Amino acid sequence: MISIHTIIKPSTLQFRPKRPSRKPPKTLAPIHALLQYNRKPQLAGDTPRVVVITSGKGGVGKTTTTANIGISLARLGFSAVAIDADVGLRNLDLLLGLENRVNYTVVEVLNGDCRLDQALVRDKQWSNFELLCISKPRSKLPLGFGGKALIWLVDALKNREEGPPDFILIDCPAGIDAGFITAITPANEAVLVTTPDITSLRDADRVTGLLECDGIRDIKMIVNRVRTDMIKGEDMMSVLDVQEMLGLPLLGVIPEDTEVIRSTNRGYPLVLNKPPALAGLAFEQAAWRLVEQDSMKAVMMEEEPKKRGFFSFFGG
Ligand code: ADP
Ligand code: MG
Repeated sequence: MISIHTIIKPSTLQFRPKRPSRKPPKTLAPIHALLQYNRKPQLAGDTPRVVVITSGKGGVGKTTTTANIGISLARLGFSAVAIDADVGLRNLDLLLGLENRVNYTVVEVLNGDCRLDQALVRDKQWSNFELLCISKPRSKLPLGFGGKALIWLVDALKNREEGPPDFILIDCPAGIDAGFITAITPANEAVLVTTPDITSLRDADRVTGLLECDGIRDIKMIVNRVRTDMIKGEDMMSVLDVQEMLGLPLLGVIPEDTEVIRSTNRGYPLVLNKPPALAGLAFEQAAWRLVEQDSMKAVMMEEEPKKRGFFSFFGG
């Protein structure tokens, strides 16, 4: 793994111009044709798969990833519970448009004021997706709430009458302090979200080490907010560079897309947009790979022989 300190300056990399695109098709291809998938993904690994979505740095897209992958999993036919473990700054409920339906949180469950199923908020449209918040917004991490409490919670989800969910997604807080340690404790696998900038990569590198120390070996990364125009202009690292630096398998590459911000503000996950947004399709593909424990490659595509190729951020 190349250390974060040996980052190659973008100007020294061989960035190559993009070939002019072919004429766009007149009609939109159906989503399955676009994704080139016409089968249901095969669920790999033992269920429930407990996946923590983490990053180290804040604001890189953890909550966006949790919401969109969670809803994608439900759309693919899998049951998922998303736990918002970002206690003080909870906002997963807002992204999902479920904020008015959170009556109880895990704090009330632990205090014996309600049952676990009362704290689970079922999505309006996708009933196999449920949200669980640890506490009320702006509240502090409840005293004594730590890794053991989250393990208890995961066990309680496993032992529900209706059976365990296929996936438990844990939206991790930023930083590497108590909230982070709590959030990663019950996880068996991790999705590390990073943007292609040096600060985010340094934090991602640090978090990878901490996850490995905690015994989480299955770590895949999502590179978010990728801009091909900036990569071409040598102002942003390519996904290939990011992968070389972190040395992690790639779960997905999400382009910078104004639709993400629009959907955040509307409380309507991007993957439900019709027609699908580019970032939404990328999240769907990432969810597919998560199900199958698959990964993608950032590839350099060779283009017209006399012209130079370009680093494509979508791989096979
Ligand atoms: P985190 O949970 O890591 O703090 P969020 O998921 O809350 O990050 O995202 C932070 C902000 O970045 C949000 O306003 C979100 O809309 C925006 N954002 C995330 N991903 C993208 C993207 N691919 N394109 C554009 N904006 C994005
Ligand atoms: Mg967040």
